[in-house]
Amino acid sequence: MMEFQPHATPKNTGWIEVIAGCMFSGKTEELIRRLRRAEIAKQSVKIFKPKLDDRYSESEIVSHNEQSLPSIIVEKPQEILTLCEDAQVVGIDEAQFFSSELIDICNQLANKGKRVIVAGLDQDYRGIPFEPMPQLLSIAEYITKTLAICVMCGNPADKTQRKIVSSERVLVGAANSYEARCRKCHYIPE
Ligand code: ZN
Repeated sequence: MMEFQPHATPKNTGWIEVIAGCMFSGKTEELIRRLRRAEIAKQSVKIFKPKLDDRYSESEIVSHNEQSLPSIIVEKPQEILTLCEDAQVVGIDEAQFFSSELIDICNQLANKGKRVIVAGLDQDYRGIPFEPMPQLLSIAEYITKTLAICVMCGNPADKTQRKIVSSERVLVGAANSYEARCRKCHYIPE
């Protein structure tokens, strides 16, 4: 797992960390790891995820290896602002399912002095950048790209291969319709 090790932890200011990658690359595990460490450090932590993602659990963020943390489900990024007044650390999972309003909300949270950790899919099944992740990557102080392993050839993988034909950008709760592939082994099913 990639380590988040800034040369110096920012003092008296907020900031944004983005964890970006394909499916099965360990984004949520990394988000949970950072949030758990913040809790151990006695910081107040709040975790949010979009309503769209209802797999496994209504009230927890759950990674594919079944680690979980209690989370708050919101429909709009604006709700995060009002629900995390008292939090020092704000975690946001599945950021690609939020509207582009999330970009401004993350800036506002960081400007209020909060540490904001955002995880999300950086590309859709076609390999197209998945908004608002490109914009979030641009405004973040710290970026981690998580890579999976290509199931075809064993190379590092940063693409999400869809195994069924559908032109929908998102197939909610269909993790078994996807696998991780490298650039060479990835194709767009049609
Ligand atoms: Zn491959």
